[in-house]
This record gives sequence, C-alpha cells and structure tokens, in this order.
Amino acid sequence: MNQSVFALIADRLAARPDRVLIEADGGADWTWADIDATTARYARLMESLGLGKGDRVAVQVEKSPEALLVYLACNRAGLVYLPMNTAYRQDEIDFLLGNARPGLFICRPETEAECQDLAARNGVSHTLTLDGQGRGTFTARAAQMAADFAPVECGPDDDAGILYTSGTTGKPKGAVMTQRNLSSNALALVDYWGFRETDVLLHALPVFHTHGLFVACHCALFSGAKMLWLPKFDAARVLALLPRATVMMGVPTFYTRLLATPEFGRAQCGAMRLFVSGSAPLLEETHKAFEERTGMAILERYGMTETGMITSNPLDGERRAGTVGFPLPGIEVRIGDDADTVLGTDEVGVIQMRGPNVFKGYWGLPEKTAEEFTQDGWFRTGDVGKIDARGYVHIVGRAKDLIISGGFNVYPKEIEGVIDRIEGVLESAVIGIPHPDFGEAAAAIVVRQPGATLGEDDIIAHVKTRIANYKVPKHVKFLPELPRNSMGKVQKNVLRDTFDKL
Ligand code: AMP
Repeated sequence: MNQSVFALIADRLAARPDRVLIEADGGADWTWADIDATTARYARLMESLGLGKGDRVAVQVEKSPEALLVYLACNRAGLVYLPMNTAYRQDEIDFLLGNARPGLFICRPETEAECQDLAARNGVSHTLTLDGQGRGTFTARAAQMAADFAPVECGPDDDAGILYTSGTTGKPKGAVMTQRNLSSNALALVDYWGFRETDVLLHALPVFHTHGLFVACHCALFSGAKMLWLPKFDAARVLALLPRATVMMGVPTFYTRLLATPEFGRAQCGAMRLFVSGSAPLLEETHKAFEERTGMAILERYGMTETGMITSNPLDGERRAGTVGFPLPGIEVRIGDDADTVLGTDEVGVIQMRGPNVFKGYWGLPEKTAEEFTQDGWFRTGDVGKIDARGYVHIVGRAKDLIISGGFNVYPKEIEGVIDRIEGVLESAVIGIPHPDFGEAAAAIVVRQPGATLGEDDIIAHVKTRIANYKVPKHVKFLPELPRNSMGKVQKNVLRDTFDKL
C-alpha cells in the first residue's frame, strides 16, 4: 500500500469528490475533485521538468490555496517539499538552496530576477513563480498539463519534507520529515482533537511552518473538514469568519490580538468547539482572560519542527493553563538531566521524547543529528521542563537560548553574527526581552570599537537589510564590555536581568 501522505488523504476523500475543502477568503472554493485534478497537473509539470522521487522542491511564496496544493503535488509525485519563510532575504535563500540543492525553486514574481540569480549560482535548474492569487509561471505551465497522475509509491521512511530551523550555530538546519512522521502525527491529532468532516477550521497561520502546514492542514485534510482560508491573521477578518468556524489554531499572539479587539466575545464563538494554541508559551493571564471573554478554555499543545506535535492538553478534561498537557498517544515523554539520567515527578530537566513522529535527521548533518539523541534513542528537545504528579508536562524555559517572537524562532547567534560584521562593532550579544504583542522580541547589547560612534538606529537599519524583519532587534543598547563568566562565556542571564537599566 502506498504510504504517502497524499495517498492516505486521497483514500479518505475520494468518495466525496464534490465536498468543498478549502474556501479562500474572497476567492474560489476548492473541492476534492479540484484538488485532485490540480495537484495532478502540478505533479505532471514537475515530472516534465525532470524531477523524480526524492528530489527537492524549494518554495518561497505568499500563502494561497495553490501554495498548499504545491505541497500536496510534491507529495503525490514523491518529491520532497521545502518551504521557506517568506521573510527570508537573499543570504538566507542562498544558503538554503546551496544546502538542499533542489531541482526546482518556486518564488514570488516580484523577486524572480534575484531568485533566478541565486538559483543559477546554486545549480538549481528551474525557477518558476507563484503569487498570492495563484498566478505565475508555475500555474500557467501546469494548466497545459493533463489532469491525471498516478501517485508515486512511497514507503513510510521516504522523505516528504525538509523544514529549516535556524540552528544555534547560526546556520539553519533542514529537519527531514518522512511520510510516517507526518501521517502518524496527523492521525494522532485528528483523533485526539476529535476532528470530523463537519468541522470548519479557520486557517490564518502561515503555511511555511509546521504549525500552519502540517498540524492545521493535515487535521482538516485527513478528516475531510473544510478550511476557511485567510492569507494571514487579520483580527477583523477573523471576527467576520469565526461565526462559521468550529476550530481555530493559532500562536499566542492571535489570542492576545483578539482580546485586544473590544467587539470580540461570545457572539462570534457560537459554533466554535475548539481554540488551539502553540509554537510559543501562552501566558496564564491570556488563557484566563480568554475564558472569561468567550467561556472557552484555549487548548495548549507543544511541538517542534523536528517532531511535529508532542503533547497536548485534553479535549475532554481539564485544560490546565501554564501546561502543555499529556504526551499524544504513541508518543513518550521523559525528563532527563545533563547526563540523560531520567528524573522523577516535578523535577526540572531537558524534555526528551520518542515516537513515530521524530524526524529522520538534519539534512546532510549526520553528526549534528546524532548529538541530539540520547544513547538509548530518545530525542532531546532542548526545552527545559517537568512532568507533574497528574502527568501534565510543563515547559519552564529553553536550554538553547532560543527567542520566540510572534511564534517564530529567533536564534541569537545568527543575529550576533550579522551585527558583529558591521564596521565599528567589536562584539554583541542578543537576548530575548518581553514584548506585549510578540511575547518576546530580540534585543541587542553592542560593544563599539574604540572611537566608533554608531548608534541604535544605525545597527537596526543595517540588520534590516540582511535578515528577516522578525529577527531584527527591537532595541539596541551599548556597553563598554560584555559580562563574562570564568569560562569566558557571555552571561546572558545578567544581560536579561539588567537590560532595562542599561
Ligand atoms: P518550532 O520548531 O519553530 O516549531 O519551535 C519549537 C519550539 O517552540 C519548541 O522547542 C518550544 O521551545 C517552543 N514551543 C512550542 N510550543 C510551545 C508551547 N505550547 N509552550 C512553550 N513553548 C512552545
């Protein structure tokens, strides 16, 4: 039996070809018959370009139903889907193309010229375009293709996607997800969250990240639920569509923004059965304020790119604010100390886990991959937490200094590298500081070279031209030297504690 995600979805949906699965806000409806025909055309086009099983397809496009269909078409053709954050700039794209060596790069029409250069430099044979309305050279050429394509046979361990996560080394690492990684997680979530075909999922997340792409879309497609498709989160549009929705998934920022909208309340939530939050910590205050306003308790879950979803608060039963709930069925979680000794109830250490959802490895980095696993095969998440007496998992911090801004990961090392290269800068340290909208934001502490006069605006302006906006420090302060411990390591805890007073 074909074990690809596409084959499993097709199996479940083929009996109801006329059912609308995607309703684009202000755009077209997509039935299974439409999705089936269109992904066949896309798959044929990619095959005609010479791409075969296991080849990578890199994609940096605005969110649209067509963008999702590119993913499904890749899966249908046995190709490996590699989505890129739309905020990535030249240097980041250059690195990813060089690292993953895709056979095709689909980019936005407005960046076509520069993307073609980057593709040529990295030996990528084909560059096609796709815009937020589903137009571009990719869809124009696919329209000429026949609308049938037999799904390529895949086994459970075949690669399905590579999602890049910025590394602590500053360079992004590609997490390779297999067909089984994705389908096992999808099936577990559909069951755990009670998805059924009468559900209507309000989809306002980006589709280049595991949350919006795999968690949200798979829950809908594996259960035959309809998605109300928004190009991005917009509180006014969410308010307008919510009365027709039964489920919404979001990052905590979505919920704080809804709460900041005075009209938002029970009136819009009549049909809703579930609000899910994840990708960053949901403050207990937000959980409480949301319940007071709507009468509904947000269900918080925890996962990461390398694993998909790991734990979730229960659908029925207490959703405990400040916790991320229980391990999903089929997944085991434990807490380990620095020597990987397993710790007991309420003891704080690194969260380790294993299950069919754990990625195959970082693309081309077998040693780095091996470092992330314990001797007995558990994956070290890098998150610090504990499990309480009732079995709820709590996250108390991050082992690796990661900053999560508006749900996106920001690795200080990468930003420090950019700042340190600015003329007049001796060195820098980047930390996370609380931010009312994004939860956390990057802030930089910079040491100038003797005689240099550059200020906060100069640093921010420079960094903005080099990396994605969400990674750019919101504040920059200056010190004559960075605090260091006896081992010479910069004491970021000291900087965090004193940043306000610097
Ligand atoms: P990503 O790979 O972008 O999905 O980011 C994964 C990281 O996000 C995890 O390792 C956690 O640090 C963090 N994360 C995800 N969900 C939660 C949550 N519910 N609460 C706190 N942190 C979370």
